[in-house]
Amino acid sequence: MLPAHDDISERRQALEAVALAAAGGLLGALVWRLWGSELQAPPLAVLAVAAGGAFAADFVSGIVHWIADTWGHETMPVFGRRFLRPFRVHHVNPDDFLRRRFLDVNGDVAMLTAPILALAHCLPMRGATGQLLAAGVAGFCATILPTNQVHQWAHQSAPPRWVARLQRLGLILSRPAHLRHHRAPHAANYCIATGWCNPFLERIQFFRRLERAVTRWTGLQPRSDDESFRQVFEPSALLNPPDRPDADGNA
Ligand SMILES: [Zn+2]
Ligand SMILES: [Zn+2]
Repeated sequence: MLPAHDDISERRQALEAVALAAAGGLLGALVWRLWGSELQAPPLAVLAVAAGGAFAADFVSGIVHWIADTWGHETMPVFGRRFLRPFRVHHVNPDDFLRRRFLDVNGDVAMLTAPILALAHCLPMRGATGQLLAAGVAGFCATILPTNQVHQWAHQSAPPRWVARLQRLGLILSRPAHLRHHRAPHAANYCIATGWCNPFLERIQFFRRLERAVTRWTGLQPRSDDESFRQVFEPSALLNPPDRPDADGNA
C-alpha cells in the first residue's frame, strides 16, 4: 500500500482558514494602499521591483523544496512528521496530493506569509523607497501565497480552463515542467511557484553544486532519507515507477 498524507484536525483547519483570510486581506490591502498612493517612483520601476519579488518567491520555493527533499529524516522529532514526511510521501504517491483540500493545501504557506505582509504595512508609503519595498513584498507574497495551489494544479490532468491558460502562458508552473521533477531521483525543477527560475538554475547546476558543498562540509549524503523511504514502499512503487509517467502523465 502506498503512503498517504496525514489528515488535518478541525482545529488546524480553523487556524489555516484564519491564516488564509489574514494573508489574503493583508495582501489586498497592501496593493490597494500602493495603488491609491501618489507614486514617487517611476511606474516602470515599481512594476520591475514587483516582478523581482515574484522571481524571488519562485527561487525561495525552490530552496525550501530542495532542503526538504534532500536533507533531514522524516522520523526527526516534530519537524520530521510535520514538514519532511509530506515531501517523502509526495514522491512515492504524488496522486495523494490531489485528495488534499483547499485549506490543507494553502494554509501553511498563508501562516508564513501573513506576518511578512503585516510588517510590510509598517512601511512608509509616501516616499519612493517605501513604495518600491512595498511593491517587492507584494510581488513576492502574491507569488508565494498560492505556491502549493499552483503545485496541485500542475498535478491535475484537467485543471480549470483559466488555470490551463495561465500554465500555457508560462505565468504559473506548468504540468510538463513539474513532471520533470517527479522523475527519479527527483532532483530537477525544484521551483514550484512560477517555475521561472528552473531553466537557469538547471543550466548552472545550482542545486548539484550546493549539494556537493554541503556534503563536503558535513559529510551528509543528499536524498538518503528520500531513497530509504522509497525503498520501504518499493513493491507498490514499482507498479508505477517515478521515472516513468503513467498513461495520464503522472509520475
Ligand atoms: Zn520534490
Ligand atoms: Zn509534485
